[in-house]
Amino acid sequence: MDQALQKKYLSDLQNGESGVITKVLGHGSFRKRINEMGFVAGTTVTPIKKAPLQDPVEYELMGYRVLLRGTEAHQVEIVSEEEAKLMAASVFEGTLVSDILKRSVKEKTHTINVALVGNPNCGKTTLFNYATGKRERVGNYSGVTVDLKTARLVKDDYTINITDLPGTYSISEYTPEELYVRQHITDDKPDVVINVVDASNLERNLYLTTQLIDMNIKVIIALNMFDELEKKGDNFDYVQLGKMIGIPIIPTIASKGRGLDELLWKVIDVYEDKDPILRHIHVNYGSIINESVNKLKTEIKKHQELVDNYYPRFACIKLLEGDKTFIKHFSTLPFSSDIIEMSKVEIIRLQKEFNERTETIIANAKYGFIKGALKETYKESTVKKEKRKWGIDDFLTNRWMGFPLFMIFMWAMFQATFSVGSYPQHWIDLGVQLIAHTIENIMPVGSLRDLMVNGIIGGIGGVIVFLPNILILFFCISLMEDTGYMARAAFIMDRLMHKIGLHGKSFIPLLMGFGCNVPAIMSTRTLENKKDRLLTMLIIPFMSCSARLPVYILLISAFFPYHQGLVLLSVYLIGVVLAIVMALLFKNIFFAKKDVPFVMELPPYRIPTLRNTSIHMWDKSVQYITKMGTTILLASILIWALGYFPRNVKFSKNYDSAITAIQSNNTIPDSVKIKGLKTIEAEKEAERLEKSYIGKMGQSIEPVIQPLGFDWKIGVSILTGLASKEIVLGTMGVLYQTDFSVDKSSANLHTKLQQQCYTSGTKIGKKVFSPLVAFSLMVFVLVYFPCVAVIAAIKRESDWKWAVFTMVYTTGLAWLLAFGVYQIGSLIF
Ligand code: GDP
Ligand code: MG
Repeated sequence: MDQALQKKYLSDLQNGESGVITKVLGHGSFRKRINEMGFVAGTTVTPIKKAPLQDPVEYELMGYRVLLRGTEAHQVEIVSEEEAKLMAASVFEGTLVSDILKRSVKEKTHTINVALVGNPNCGKTTLFNYATGKRERVGNYSGVTVDLKTARLVKDDYTINITDLPGTYSISEYTPEELYVRQHITDDKPDVVINVVDASNLERNLYLTTQLIDMNIKVIIALNMFDELEKKGDNFDYVQLGKMIGIPIIPTIASKGRGLDELLWKVIDVYEDKDPILRHIHVNYGSIINESVNKLKTEIKKHQELVDNYYPRFACIKLLEGDKTFIKHFSTLPFSSDIIEMSKVEIIRLQKEFNERTETIIANAKYGFIKGALKETYKESTVKKEKRKWGIDDFLTNRWMGFPLFMIFMWAMFQATFSVGSYPQHWIDLGVQLIAHTIENIMPVGSLRDLMVNGIIGGIGGVIVFLPNILILFFCISLMEDTGYMARAAFIMDRLMHKIGLHGKSFIPLLMGFGCNVPAIMSTRTLENKKDRLLTMLIIPFMSCSARLPVYILLISAFFPYHQGLVLLSVYLIGVVLAIVMALLFKNIFFAKKDVPFVMELPPYRIPTLRNTSIHMWDKSVQYITKMGTTILLASILIWALGYFPRNVKFSKNYDSAITAIQSNNTIPDSVKIKGLKTIEAEKEAERLEKSYIGKMGQSIEPVIQPLGFDWKIGVSILTGLASKEIVLGTMGVLYQTDFSVDKSSANLHTKLQQQCYTSGTKIGKKVFSPLVAFSLMVFVLVYFPCVAVIAAIKRESDWKWAVFTMVYTTGLAWLLAFGVYQIGSLIF
């Protein structure tokens, strides 16, 4: 049996000598990869030949050959074939050889090496003694456990070797103990680590846990001193915490031996990958640090040697922390020097950004993670709470005050965005108009002038008038992110948002959507999880943006004389309800995987610097301008061209002669003259637009939109609205023959809409609009194709597939809903 304890690795095998795998060591992702290659316990492996430099080695297993590097082979534990047979023969004679092999290998694979890791005085030694029946010295002061003790115990048909390690608060490199513990984990590679946690001091104890999480190893938490916690009367939902961090948690009272049996069973389960809770999660370090981590990770992942030695994310974090011992070892590996250089650049960037050492930044993020996890699962007994000093979080995330305070902040943010923003918006608007007028005056009449004024300047103008709002909005959001309030806001909203399968942080993008969907989609970046991001993006278009509002206002004031506010509210509510329904639906269709709880971190509050906040704001705004600006511009030019061409329209009337007739008629007063001219010009423009490409497109889609109660003019307006929804109103103005651009009041357009009749087809002579048609149209405008810029934003934040999907599904849904409204409404009224 002692023989079995002596470890032998695949790398020790000589050419032609076979071995039977007993265990694969190393971190999770490495194990997975090796297992997928067929290196699982019980498999016979034979080295075929070594490469000239002894590395890599070609191995044969299960009838095929693979190459493994020395470092990889050193992570595979084996016994020799003879050894396996010998061990088995004494137990079981006369069975098939391969069966015998498996059986003896089982003995080996049923040996679990466990390490006890935890803070000083959390009860490791007590637990160790109780479990193994040893009598090591325990003490109530730190530093009692100086060297490691290992003992063996048997459980079921497993042999468990437990090692008691020195107590440490962290596994960085400050003290010899810390280094010792870390080396034990990375070099001796225990199969399972039991993280002993003092339940009466969770926040500090869990810090070490976050470091173990970073390493991607198998961990179980022994929630020790559970009696102390019960005595305090605190309520701790450790099961939920375990689910959130992907680590099984077993409450124990080591001094009485309680919970230890369960703990050991859990060790076996986890070792055999049978525990449903066990999963690898990432401690969220926030977007700024994540950016650095991802940059380094991409680089590390290019080199298999590095990946096999360290779990890449762990390596990134250690590099960013500037961990000397780690870097020393890392630098001995090939290709590491470039990555170390890169990490230095990142460290400088981070320290500039946070004005703090990277180590501190990362430690703070870890505490934020713990704080968030405990906030959700740990309820202190009321008796104790009163004695405690009130902190800022007691207000901001308070059960009663948190929500109203959040609403006040949100209200203030939107108020600032839209009311403060409206002044510069107005100035920009004036500026754009001035430029348009100047060009109109200096350029000769013609398509080029029209393109400049209506296509390009109109298009750019449409984008930059929103710039002040965007700047203010982004400023507020950056401020909230930089102070740490954003995390609290997400925390407050999480329960509510969770009901529809979203993350608490989704709330802010959704709310922003009421202003403009484009920055809303851009701000989904604050969500770490890709699924949450996508789901949020897919439903943002139902948040009715401010560009749709003028359309509603026009239709409501024309066709709903009573309860106007209520009608408007109902349109917005339809959007919200749709968002909820679709979120639930998409979650079940696309992201049907089971809902795993996660930690919402509560990072420490920080005083934001104007510099950082401005930089963040500026970055976001530049993105808005460049990406969205170009797409809106292209779309505007396209739609302009479709409406402008062809030029050689055959008019049904001779408008020009009518115009000259009025002009040369001296018997009527000038005011009447101007009015008459305007009417004729509007009529001419309407007919021209009718015969333009877009007009023809509108007419060709008429059969499709007729069941919704729409005529072809609405069709054209809907088409132009693809560029942006503000355009819908302008198009209606042109088609229903009011010079909307001259007198901006929509009163004129009202009456035109009310009087509008069908001029052809089966409904000839009947009124086009009714309250029902108006409502159906509002629903359609609310739901269909958000606008080109939104689609471009979705494509940018995810990929074109989701962008196309959004186009199709929103439009399809809009049709169905408008159809339902119109058809069912027609039956009732
Ligand atoms: P270590 O430093 O982690 O090895 O901790 P020790 O095993 O030396 O234990 C420190 C002290 O905590 C000892 O006095 C133990 O008796 C006590 N202790 C250990 N486990 C428990 C427990 O579950 N409940 C209580 N109340 N005390 C415990
Ligand atoms: Mg001890």
